[in-house]
Amino acid sequence: MRRKIIAGNWKMNLTLDEGQKLTSEIVNMYKDENVKDVIAVLNPPFPHIFPVKKLIGDIKGIAIGAQNCSDKEFGAFTGEVSAKILASFGVEYVIIGHSERREYFKETNEFLGKKVVAALAQGLTPIFCCGESLDIRNAGTHEANVKYQLTESLFGLSAGDMARVVIAYEPIWAIGTGKTATSDQAQEMHLALRRHIASKFGKELAGDISILYGGSMNAANAADLLSKPDVDGGLIGGASLKSRDFLDIIKSY
Ligand code: PEP
Repeated sequence: MRRKIIAGNWKMNLTLDEGQKLTSEIVNMYKDENVKDVIAVLNPPFPHIFPVKKLIGDIKGIAIGAQNCSDKEFGAFTGEVSAKILASFGVEYVIIGHSERREYFKETNEFLGKKVVAALAQGLTPIFCCGESLDIRNAGTHEANVKYQLTESLFGLSAGDMARVVIAYEPIWAIGTGKTATSDQAQEMHLALRRHIASKFGKELAGDISILYGGSMNAANAADLLSKPDVDGGLIGGASLKSRDFLDIIKSY
């Protein structure tokens, strides 16, 4: 079923105290302001997962996610964290293929496909990121580029597994730049992605997949972006570090 999801990507930010303060504020506002029908996913750095999860407690509608996972289940892979370990801590979502992972850690479509499989095998929901660079957008090949990312990483999945994936369309030129895609640009790409998924997995399955937009979404532009029929939520970087902004984005649905 298509869900409305607002996921916060804290990236490599916040100390323990700062993370606890932010989480407590979000949890309290979410409860006090009676948020309904929108799943908020907090994706902090790994060491925060345990305390953040504790602060969330049993509140329905707020979930914990990670920003990455290994493609392996366990073993001698120093510095890595597996989906199996994450699941044992109550993690429900994991971001896979963020453009920063693709760029700085050279994660390829094929490798990211393996991470998706590893996450699904442990019952996690992958938030699979895709998106084009400014050069590709200017060349006019953005749609083909992003479809290719999906084909390479996800089209080997069974329909049952594909149905459990969340997609995040994040144009790289919009991430952390303050240059948000227009809501029409977002809608155009989300629809193209949904049609692409339908071409492989059928219209019904594609219609059930949540496709989030990411790239400088904030409290001022969220309502417009989220009003589009194929935009099912957001993946939020900078604005997820401020509780009021994050809640305002959630509430702008
Ligand atoms: C992100 O990093 O996924 C992101 C969308 O960042 P920002 O909201 O800061 O552009």
